[in-house]
Amino acid sequence: MALQLLRQAGHAPPEGTPGTQMWLQSLIDALVELSSRDALTGLANRRSFDLALAREIDRVARSGEPTLLLALDIDHFKRVNDSWGHAAGDLVIKATAAVLAETVRPMDLVARVGGEEFGIILPNCPPAFGETVAERIRRKLERTPIAIGPTREIRVTVSIGGAYAPQWVRSTAALWMERADLQLYRAKSSGRNLVCLEPSAVSTVSAEEKNLLFAVSPTQEHE
Ligand code: GH3
Ligand code: MG
Ligand code: MG
Repeated sequence: MALQLLRQAGHAPPEGTPGTQMWLQSLIDALVELSSRDALTGLANRRSFDLALAREIDRVARSGEPTLLLALDIDHFKRVNDSWGHAAGDLVIKATAAVLAETVRPMDLVARVGGEEFGIILPNCPPAFGETVAERIRRKLERTPIAIGPTREIRVTVSIGGAYAPQWVRSTAALWMERADLQLYRAKSSGRNLVCLEPSAVSTVSAEEKNLLFAVSPTQEHE
């Protein structure tokens, strides 16, 4: 079954003699790779993105480095499916993924986190540059024609929300994503094809995050 899955996904078979330790390790590595990628776009999937977010939160809490999380959602994507069909919609998702992957730095992580939703982790991105980076991504997509047939090209736009990881404070992947999503919602409700970033990294630490910092357990709370 494992070998069939790998073959179907276009992976080379594991190296070495079947049944040996090296072969099994190679098989496990290939399965790990397969289970962390999104099949349509080849980007990191939601599962590996959540792991990367948790790792990044730990790193930021130790280093204080500014890390920006962007949440992106294609605007009026239902119209693409309705007008051109689901297969054309898939091509748009793939093309969008390719543009995102080539627009960021090698150290950044781009993931497909839902149907036509993407997340990007940008480590070491000073707040003064956050807006510029997100705007560059938004404009690049707006300008890129996407081929959905031999003679047809369309363009799509994205709305982008962003939030910085709270520095020197422990948080959770879910809380961080929630803050970026809130900004994405603002970008959508302000007209779409827009970037909205959370204003300040420090002032936005939530009560929940402060609780994580001081690690007050429910039993202590009642003492
Ligand atoms: P908005 O600007 O508010 O984001 O409008 P929208 O039309 O993009 O709305 P929404 O995000 O709710 O719609 C997403 C649509 O994406 C709904 C679903 O049918 C479609 N979709 C989700 N996953 C896939 C996929 O893998 N392929 C294709 N072709 N369509 C998908
Ligand atoms: Mg959506
Ligand atoms: Mg959408």
